[in-house]
Amino acid sequence: MPYAKALRCRECGREYGLEPLHVCEFCFGPLEVAYDYEAMHRNITRETIERGPNSVWRYADLLPADPAYAVDINAGFTPLIRAKNLGEHLGLKNLYIKNDCANPTWSFKDRVVTVAATKAREFGFETLACASTGNLANSVSAHAASAGLEAYVFIPSDLERGKIIGSSVYGATLVAVDGNYDDVNRLCSELADKYKWAFVNINMRPYYAEGSKTLAYEVAEQLGWRAPEHVVAPMASGSLYVKIWKGLQELSKLWLIDSVQTKMSGAQARGCSPIVTAFEGHTHNIKPVRPNTIAKSLAIGNPADGYYALQVMEESGGHGVASEDEEIVEGIKLLAESEGIFAETAGGVVISGLRKLALAGKIAPDEVTVAYITGGGLKTQEAIESALELPLHVAPTMASFEAVLGERTQARETAAAV
Ligand SMILES: *Cc1c(COP(=O)(O)O)cnc(C)c1O
Ligand SMILES: [Zn+2]
Repeated sequence: MPYAKALRCRECGREYGLEPLHVCEFCFGPLEVAYDYEAMHRNITRETIERGPNSVWRYADLLPADPAYAVDINAGFTPLIRAKNLGEHLGLKNLYIKNDCANPTWSFKDRVVTVAATKAREFGFETLACASTGNLANSVSAHAASAGLEAYVFIPSDLERGKIIGSSVYGATLVAVDGNYDDVNRLCSELADKYKWAFVNINMRPYYAEGSKTLAYEVAEQLGWRAPEHVVAPMASGSLYVKIWKGLQELSKLWLIDSVQTKMSGAQARGCSPIVTAFEGHTHNIKPVRPNTIAKSLAIGNPADGYYALQVMEESGGHGVASEDEEIVEGIKLLAESEGIFAETAGGVVISGLRKLALAGKIAPDEVTVAYITGGGLKTQEAIESALELPLHVAPTMASFEAVLGERTQARETAAAV
């Protein structure tokens, strides 16, 4: 915490104090937290980190919030799994899954919210708020409940049941807006000017976004203090993707890992792929789109960090990859059936994208590759329900079980024969 020293404009470099601000008053560029890396280099070692708690707060020295105010429901330090079965299927010998379904509200958003909520408490805010595609609303509601703060969370009205119930249960005021995420975001930006609320991804965005760096720190530490050679991550606003890159660069700057040679690949749904489309068209000019995809958690048509995501993609030698809705469903099933991990639609986007990149030879068989699975599947059951086999329905007798099983086996054999 003592190492965060200012907010700095990403465009013109002007500096501001550490306040609840997110845009530069001069050029309207986004503000980002700047640190005193020299002091950090002197004091932070692998050992000081390893002594910390098994949560994102083990990296408190690399985050812009004071752990004394921590709003902590134990986000982070999720498993990094060696994905042997999936790797074999895709011809990748060193494939890992970062399983962020294991967070307290079952998505990676707990990482960003614990940092933003902590900073909000430090600033003296009494209300947390957000514009959300679903998972953020869940996480803000849970963290507010734990901190005894009020919560107003705004979502598009067509979200999955699991995401709606997953916010209301914590006692937050849930506002379903007739419109898509970009409409919700516009409304919240207006509200943020009037109400003295900490909108975690608007006026608190510089602090919020830093929480995603822990996705890089943890993976590097779990790999034995080294950077992966290839990353495949989902992109909505592009923030998480850009911050994984920033996190790896920081570790290298602080001599905690060797130089970073990570290819950063980003995945979107074809029904909302403004960043990937720009990558494919070799342009930095991102054309906003109207989202139409089952991957609702990634459905941001006008991505705030899209431009920076494209820069990272180019600089790192990674790729942009997009998948159709049917491929997203197949991706969810492939991960579940090969590794026992039930991901939401964003995970399907990542696994489908990973598969395309592997088949196209864009990931080499030996590359140490990490696919980020950012949310759990019980929240988006609607997306795959119709693609799954129904249960065998039997009477409580041996005869009934064997008759019904026989029918199922026969049906499978017939299907396999055609
Ligand atoms: C929010 C979210 C993302 C990515 O969000 P960014 O805006 O790109 O940081 C990825 N996966 C899931 C499941 C999400 O909820
Ligand atoms: Zn500026």
